[in-house]
Amino acid sequence: MSLPTTGRAWHLTARPDGWPTPDDFALREEPVRAPGAGQVLVRNLALSVDPYMRGRMNDVKSYVPPFRLDRPMDGAAVGVVVASEAEGLAPGDHVLHSLGWREYATLDARHAEKISADLAPLTTYLGVLGMPGLTAYAGLLEVASFREGDAVFVSGAAGAVGSQVGQIARLKGASRVIGSAGSAEKVKLLTEKYGFDAAFNYKDGPVAEQLAAAAPDGIDVYFDNVGGDHLEAALGRLNVHGRVTLCGMISGYNDSRPAPGPANLMLAIGKRLRLQGMLVGDHDALKPQFVRETAAWIASGELIYQETVADGIENAVDAFLGMLRGGNTGKMIVRLAD
Ligand code: NDP
Repeated sequence: MSLPTTGRAWHLTARPDGWPTPDDFALREEPVRAPGAGQVLVRNLALSVDPYMRGRMNDVKSYVPPFRLDRPMDGAAVGVVVASEAEGLAPGDHVLHSLGWREYATLDARHAEKISADLAPLTTYLGVLGMPGLTAYAGLLEVASFREGDAVFVSGAAGAVGSQVGQIARLKGASRVIGSAGSAEKVKLLTEKYGFDAAFNYKDGPVAEQLAAAAPDGIDVYFDNVGGDHLEAALGRLNVHGRVTLCGMISGYNDSRPAPGPANLMLAIGKRLRLQGMLVGDHDALKPQFVRETAAWIASGELIYQETVADGIENAVDAFLGMLRGGNTGKMIVRLAD
């Protein structure tokens, strides 16, 4: 079989100030390199678009380097090996790797993790069994030190991480699970399908009031995906010795200037709260346990996951922007081929 010589890749062409627009990106034809010694050539089948990528569009020092302008962007992807010069990987094998946003990727085999399409659908390695899933599992069980009987509130609750946080809390014996999301359909899904005890649409009225109604006895854990008024409302509702996992603050990702912090942070003193930031990369040791337990919950039907799928690489930027606006339920995926 002859190997492809070119493939399309998305470039960031301008650094967005505020909300990104399609004009900040370009889909360009790139040369495809044949694999060298120890390398594989992968045809990507599905790409992940994730909130953290918005931060990489800014030229600031962070825990991941910024995207370079006029170069292919990167991110998680699953694909099939089409040529291999590496031991242990052969054409036809499926791999998870980090050269997404493009059709073809040539990479060192040590940066490709072999995955099995027989064990689980390939896209789940980008979502429920992948990075977002581990974020939920580690963020709740390790970072928030979840204990049976805790009342848990999670924001972004119909998204990839949030929907899993709420369900893990239920499965691990939370006394009450409360979620917030941005539409009536999402709220319905949380209580009717995912087993949340209460849920509200944060666009319907002040978060503090809606949370107070949903959590009459307060909360012990707040899993923050959103920041802003959600964090402030949670601080007001947390019980003594409550714990907060600072996982994400998506409400501010497109702000040109940072919004002021929570006005009621002083409550953390009297209530002896613990607020802890997390990065999923610190929790690799938990991965085998997370995959084992989560795969069993999925198999038994106790944990439900959803994906919102955009078809075609030409729709990857729209999928990314749509995810930032709440167009996804569960994990946002871009499918290139079956
Ligand atoms: P989601 O699948 O949750 O998608 C993002 C969601 O954010 C949208 O669907 C939208 O849902 C919601 N949203 C967007 N703007 C706002 C807003 N202004 N207020 C409230 N909600 C908003 O993404 P992920 O599950 O991948 O990520 C969730 C969070 O976790 C993000 O903050 C992300 O940065 C963080 N994260 C952190 C990691 C870490 O290691 N610290 C690792 C992975 C993720 P809606 O319709 O409800 O508004």
